[in-house]
Amino acid sequence: MNRVLSVTSECAPLIKTGGLADVAGALPAALKPLGWEMITLLPGYPQVMSALGKTTDVMVEHDLFGGTARVLKAKAKGLQLFVLDAPHLYDRDGGPYLDTDGKDYGDNPQRFAALGWIAAKIATDGAGDWMPDVLHAHDWQAGLAPVYLRAFGGAAWVGSVITVHNIAFHGLAPAHLRKELRLPADGLTPEGFEFWGQISTLKAGLNWSDRITTVSPTYARELMTPEFGMGLDGVIRSRAGVLSGILNGIDTEVWDPDTDPDVTNFATPAKKRAATAALREEMGLEDNGGPLAVVVSRLTEQKGLDLLIEALPGFLSRDGQLALLGSGDGGLEEAFQQLADTHSGVAVRIGYDEALSHRMMAGADAVLVPSRFEPCGLTQMYALRYGAIPVVARTGGLADTVIDANAAALRSGAATGIQFYPVTAEALSGALHQLVDLFEDTKIWKKMQKTAMRQDVSWAGSAAEYAALYESIGTAE
Ligand code: ADP
Repeated sequence: MNRVLSVTSECAPLIKTGGLADVAGALPAALKPLGWEMITLLPGYPQVMSALGKTTDVMVEHDLFGGTARVLKAKAKGLQLFVLDAPHLYDRDGGPYLDTDGKDYGDNPQRFAALGWIAAKIATDGAGDWMPDVLHAHDWQAGLAPVYLRAFGGAAWVGSVITVHNIAFHGLAPAHLRKELRLPADGLTPEGFEFWGQISTLKAGLNWSDRITTVSPTYARELMTPEFGMGLDGVIRSRAGVLSGILNGIDTEVWDPDTDPDVTNFATPAKKRAATAALREEMGLEDNGGPLAVVVSRLTEQKGLDLLIEALPGFLSRDGQLALLGSGDGGLEEAFQQLADTHSGVAVRIGYDEALSHRMMAGADAVLVPSRFEPCGLTQMYALRYGAIPVVARTGGLADTVIDANAAALRSGAATGIQFYPVTAEALSGALHQLVDLFEDTKIWKKMQKTAMRQDVSWAGSAAEYAALYESIGTAE
């Protein structure tokens, strides 16, 4: 079996704040049949420590950025783990990055430098009798691992790859921390890890890794442009030769309309009606014969939901309805709540509710994702699997997973959803009108639903791409 060390700050189902956790949690099982054993290195947050069964100590580090740390080998929820037990860094109330007041921990640079440091140690010296062929770092939190790997000499025999899940987060630290973070002096340049006078741990990962991946081919191309690169487009362009986009999959056992414990089960679009009726009842919406559109999302600028507020009146006037589940920006929460208070066709639930998100996908006629940028996106893939038609901005992974209902795609029966561009309220409004038109044409609608439900959104294809990438850089025979 070939071996890969996955270095991540979150991993479902143990600790999750976003899509990164889903990917880190799903990859090990998807890679196993392909001959790759993945062990995941995670910080020992309280939520992780309390989930561990039997543990074995495999490493002690006496001075890990201000305290003693141990590395434990353990299993939890089907995952093989190395857990970095460093109470001075991770034993805190609050989340992985933010304290109980929602502020970044002041020592986040040290907390995640520690993760990278230990990753590089494991990759260079092994842990117990385990030694990886490849180190796979995720996002800025693991960005320093490839730098330390080179400093320790391990880069000579262990390949490294970094995956960008969202380039908006750079992992910035003040430049004066360079020495404390044990980073090489000659790295503090624009060609190294310096970013406008600060240290960027993501930039470090981009410049020190053998390969760079991101979570969709379209996002990979977009990252090379100033519009999407968030100041790192030049770095990405300079490394274009080692960049690739590998789409995320979804967990097709957790998201299975035929066995989902949270929904009225249905294997075919025809049987979906009961789930739609149940959702309407739960959300307090009367069935008026129009399509029920759903949003499940963080409410932030990125997700473009302010555009939906503008585009909504036209949709409602054609008997469309909206059910939204989300939380985040206070202004958006209030605006959607207000829409629900004043329009009988709008229902809103503010909060995070996994079970309700399943019922919403099951009951939806359409799922709306008008993101300004979207590295991959998961909800449009849940939608496809549950026979809900995705209406998406043509960007990132949304562009790569939804086949637009243009004339050719409709004629050939390939269409699975609607894409719109540019990402404006006008274009979204046009897409919503098209949605109603398609919904009213029962034959076409049913065909689209069937095609959507047949699309492969599992991890199988993507895992094979990761395995091929590891083969190309690893030392395994
Ligand atoms: P991002 O990681 O940018 O938030 P993704 O689409 O990649 O966007 O992943 C979001 C994940 O979080 C999906 O699994 C989605 O269903 C889930 N999610 C987002 N908001 C909520 C919510 N309010 N309740 C339940 N699940 C949510």
